[in-house]
Amino acid sequence: MRNTVGSVLSRRELVELRRLEFVRHALEEMKKKGISQDIPICPNCKSFRVIQITSQVDLGLLGALQPAYYCLDCGWYGRTLIVMTNRPDSDAVHRDMIETFGNDSEMRESDS
Ligand SMILES: [Zn+2]
Repeated sequence: MRNTVGSVLSRRELVELRRLEFVRHALEEMKKKGISQDIPICPNCKSFRVIQITSQVDLGLLGALQPAYYCLDCGWYGRTLIVMTNRPDSDAVHRDMIETFGNDSEMRESDS
């Protein structure tokens, strides 16, 4: 807990803050252009370099058909991530995103 005035963020906190700021800025820019956009964020390191993998092949280890998300920066993976959005109706976003991307993208990326 920090409650002193004028504290300094840890290196990790600073990285996370910058990433969030970058995404927030990007969303604002898209909003100006009239684009509604959702950007998934890694809950662990706040990176936006999160990919979704639905392929069985890539998920052999987990043996799951359900989509899973993988962070390219910290290696986090899971089913629940943070979604930043510039849509006015932010409640529907997460479910919406799952439905949109859940069926089509079979990403074959593997950097192992
Ligand atoms: Zn991460």
